[in-house]
Amino acid sequence: MGIETYSLAKDGEKKLSANFRVREFACKDGSDPIMIDEELVVVLQRIREHFGKPLHITSGYRTGSYNARPDVNGSKTSQHLLGRAADFWVEGVTIAAVADYAETLLPERGGIGRYPKDKAHPKRKTGWVHVDTRPKKSRWTL
Ligand SMILES: [Zn+2]
Repeated sequence: MGIETYSLAKDGEKKLSANFRVREFACKDGSDPIMIDEELVVVLQRIREHFGKPLHITSGYRTGSYNARPDVNGSKTSQHLLGRAADFWVEGVTIAAVADYAETLLPERGGIGRYPKDKAHPKRKTGWVHVDTRPKKSRWTL
């Protein structure tokens, strides 16, 4: 398992697992290369299969320049910069349920962030869960 490098133009349609293609992990600025951690794909595929509903990745790999944009406001040490993180939501499933299941897949390590659409965040179109495969354990709700 490791971090692989892809091209959106050349590999965009390539299947990484039963339900995920390279383009779903591309930086939103459309640039190459795209870095994708193989273990991240395994974790997302297990979540996809557990709920049996479409899983929408809203942010996968990020370049440094994209991550630094004011509207993205990413952490300078974001795991998205390494291709090890994805923000996503699952159709018809609450943020809490998705994050709780992710917890069972990464009990001792990895990052899991909860970003619910709630009274404190009414402008979010959907909530989302952040999952990453960092070696250490990190949990947060924002
Ligand atoms: Zn994230």
